[in-house]
Amino acid sequence: MDQAAAIGLTVPAIAMGMCAIFLCFWYYNREDRAALIFAGAFTMCAVGFTLNHFVLPKESIANAMVHNACYALGLFLLSEGIHRAFDRNPPRIALATLGVISVIAAGIIQTSFVGLSVRIVTINFIHGSMLIVSAITLRGVWDRSWTGTAVLAALALCIINFVLVSPITVYGNTIRDATFFQSAYWQIINLISILSVLSMGGALVSVCVMQRLEALRDDAENDFLTGLRSRRAFDQSARQYCQARSGDYAASVIIIDLDHFKAVNDQFGHAAGDAVIRAVGSLLSRQTRTSDMCGRMGGEEFCLLLPGTDLKGATTLAERLRLRISELAEDAFPEGLSVTASFGVAELGRDMLFEDAYPVADAALYSAKSNGRNRVDCAEAPLDTGKPVRRQKLEKRLIQDEAPRRVAS
Ligand code: GH3
Ligand code: MG
Ligand code: MG
Repeated sequence: MDQAAAIGLTVPAIAMGMCAIFLCFWYYNREDRAALIFAGAFTMCAVGFTLNHFVLPKESIANAMVHNACYALGLFLLSEGIHRAFDRNPPRIALATLGVISVIAAGIIQTSFVGLSVRIVTINFIHGSMLIVSAITLRGVWDRSWTGTAVLAALALCIINFVLVSPITVYGNTIRDATFFQSAYWQIINLISILSVLSMGGALVSVCVMQRLEALRDDAENDFLTGLRSRRAFDQSARQYCQARSGDYAASVIIIDLDHFKAVNDQFGHAAGDAVIRAVGSLLSRQTRTSDMCGRMGGEEFCLLLPGTDLKGATTLAERLRLRISELAEDAFPEGLSVTASFGVAELGRDMLFEDAYPVADAALYSAKSNGRNRVDCAEAPLDTGKPVRRQKLEKRLIQDEAPRRVAS
């Protein structure tokens, strides 16, 4: 194999390396379809390059059409994967049309005895247009995240490769077909292709890595059954909020525990118990303010942190929730299933931390359980408390200033 041909193997080798990386992403997370599609795109790139330069007869119509079909399919898959990764609708019809045109054009040009330069310029221009169409529909992701910026920058590099560099290089070197492998064009196209494949591959790997990290963080922060914050995430946000809050504003904690829940499981089954927990979680989300924090602390115990709400307001809310839980009747519940809950409510003193307020609310919950369940018990209000804040003012001001955002359920 001569040196020029060996250079030509670099692009397919890198592309297959990328393919292996994306297959690993997909293997460890089968829901990551974008990674599988990226693996397909890089495979098509490697196959097209190899067929063209090492397998199919040079200057044959079959070669021109087959290797360009591989490139067109690769570009289609690349666009499909990126749009899927960023939740966009891919411009499938435009891309498929351009892809088919590129294959037909390659065949026609091959039969019409025009020079290699014309084929390179025409086909590269059509393939570049496929990327331009994709970049247009993806333009919004530029400032959505750094991975969006990286992907669009890599797309721009590929577009420059396809649309600008090829014709300039071709005309700059006035290639004669027989000297193609010796031309500066061949060297430059390889160098630019290597850069394009590496930058696009690197950008897409960063997309897959970041999406996986975000999914893992979501799993850790959100309770899978209810969508509320998990205990750890709730605890962390509540502590942070209480540490940073201004004591001028009131804040309260409510702990909720479902009554005789073991009996619900025993009588109606674990699936019915899960349906109840899910329904209670959804009720808590719906019945509280955007600035309130809701968490599932484990099992059938929930906790609310209510910025701007004093003991009176928190007790009213707890009473309303108690009533709504006792009235819960979902289609998913078996007949005869009813559930009640006990509530412990505590208001935070001016300088009180969450870790000080939680045991106070827990003691109130214990008292509610001891006093017969299905009831709301309140701890005594601390002597020095902040003022309650009206809902509108709170949502305008506290959310921006200090209240951590509640995780959407
Ligand atoms: P109490 O009124 O004193 O709170 O009685 P309880 O039976 O609710 O309290 P206990 O803590 O003894 O039991 C809680 C039960 O909640 C135990 C377990 O069977 C059930 N449980 C905990 N987590 C889950 C869950 O994720 N799904 C279901 N279905 N049940 C759960
Ligand atoms: Mg219980
Ligand atoms: Mg419990």
